[in-house]
Formats: sequence, structure tokens, C-alpha cells
Amino acid sequence: MASRRIDEALREARSRIDATDAELLLAHALGASRSWLFAHGGDPLPAELEERFGALVARRGAGEPVAYLVGHRGFWSLDLIVTPDTLVPRPETELLVEVALERLPPARRLRVADLGTGSGAIALALARERPHAHVVATDASSAALAVARANAAHNQLGNVEFRAGDWCAPLGEARFDLIASNPPYIAEGDPHLTRGDLRFEPRAALASGRDGLDAIRRIVRDAPAHLLGGGWLLLEHGYDQGEAVRALLRDADFAEVATRQDLEARDRVTLGQRR
Ligand code: GLN
Repeated sequence: MASRRIDEALREARSRIDATDAELLLAHALGASRSWLFAHGGDPLPAELEERFGALVARRGAGEPVAYLVGHRGFWSLDLIVTPDTLVPRPETELLVEVALERLPPARRLRVADLGTGSGAIALALARERPHAHVVATDASSAALAVARANAAHNQLGNVEFRAGDWCAPLGEARFDLIASNPPYIAEGDPHLTRGDLRFEPRAALASGRDGLDAIRRIVRDAPAHLLGGGWLLLEHGYDQGEAVRALLRDADFAEVATRQDLEARDRVTLGQRR
């Protein structure tokens, strides 16, 4: 039997999974770029590659995140390696990067920390945009830290230091100009954890206590001891947690407490300034 054409295989896959996911998976199976696919739709797809693609489509159809299947994901201006040891970087987390950059003047030798760095997304985006800054990235998972370290090398960023430990614990005596974190913030019993892509991601990077706020409470409690006067704490959180996180920051005597909304107009990042 004659082999299928690239565009035929793609059309069939698009009827079973998201169209962009289908393109990413076929490009990955072929070791090509997505734009190459569109220029070569009429080319035959060798049987062995069709089989490899079919297996990827089936896994995606069963819920595995496409970023784990292809092994990387774009975030900010970076290409990040991702494995099931790390959360898949999300577009809404770019808001946290934007809000941080507004508070990091480019020319100064600032000290910045990213707590629970995972794949390194926030730390590495800030390191890229602020080459004079020194960024400390922490994570309790040594497997995640290995991925983050590989991403620093992959993106040729030398101004990031990685330290193992929970939240602020590995920060030591140094004081920071800004501490950012995208901690786990989903409530333990939330049914979303048992559906879709979230089932495949590390539970410790997603869920945090009965109301989802355990990690945020710890960070708000511990961060002031590691911030300079005037330094900022920035936290990503769930769309319905803005009020609770503002209250936590005010109770901890932070000033300028405010919440920023993501592109979908949902509360996503709350920040405060140490007095
Ligand atoms: N934004 C993610 C989600 O709801 C959760 C990420 C997190 O807990 N930090 O899918």
C-alpha cells in the first residue's frame, strides 16, 4: 500500500486531538519544524514515522501533556526542556515575569529569587531580561532542579544559581530585591486534579492543602526575612484567590498590596512591598 501523505496524516490526527498539538507531535516525530510540515504536506510519510506519530497521538488523546511528549515548551523568549518532574510552563505565568520586570530596573545589580522554580521558567526569563541581576532559583525536588539547571545551560544563562530546599529555606542570609513564586495553589480535593493534563503533572507542584494556600501562607510568612526594605514579593495564584492572598500580605505588613489580572481578565498575580 502506498504510504500516506503528511497532510493526510495531519488531517486525521486533527480530528482526534487539538490541531496545534497534532502539528507539534508530527513535527516532533519527523524531527522537523512545524513550518516545514506546511511546506511539505504532499510528501509521503514513511510507515515507521506514521506509526511513531500514531503512538504520540494516542498518548495525547489519553491526556498526556504535549510538552512531555515532545520534551520541551516555549516560555517567554526561551525554549525550555520539560519532563514529568516539572510542571509544564503556562502562558499565564508570563504575567508574573512582566510584573517582576516592571520592578527590576535594568542597569542595577539586583538580587532576585524564584521559589519552586520547576523547569526554571520564571528564574530564567528574569535572568535573560536582566543580565546584571543575580537570580537564585530554589526547588525542593532535586529532579526538577536538574531540569532547571539543564535549561540554564540550554539557554546559555550564567546568572542563575540553583539551590535545593523548600521555598525560602535555601536562601540563607542574603536579602533580595524581589522574590517571585508560582507555587502550588490548587485545593487538595479539587476535581480538576483528576482530569486532563493535570493528572500527569507532579502533584506537589499543583496542590497545596485544603484551600490550596498552604505554600503561599508559608512563603508570605518567611519571605520578609529575606527581602530588603522596599523589596517586592510576587505570587501567582488561582483566579479566585486574589482577595485571600491580598489579606495574607496585608496581615504580614506588606505595603502597596495589589492584584494583577492575566490576559483572560482573571486575578493571577498578587504582590506587595516590604516596608
Ligand atoms: N495554573 C495551573 C493550573 O491551574 C496551576 C499551577 C500551579 O498550581 N502553580 O492548571
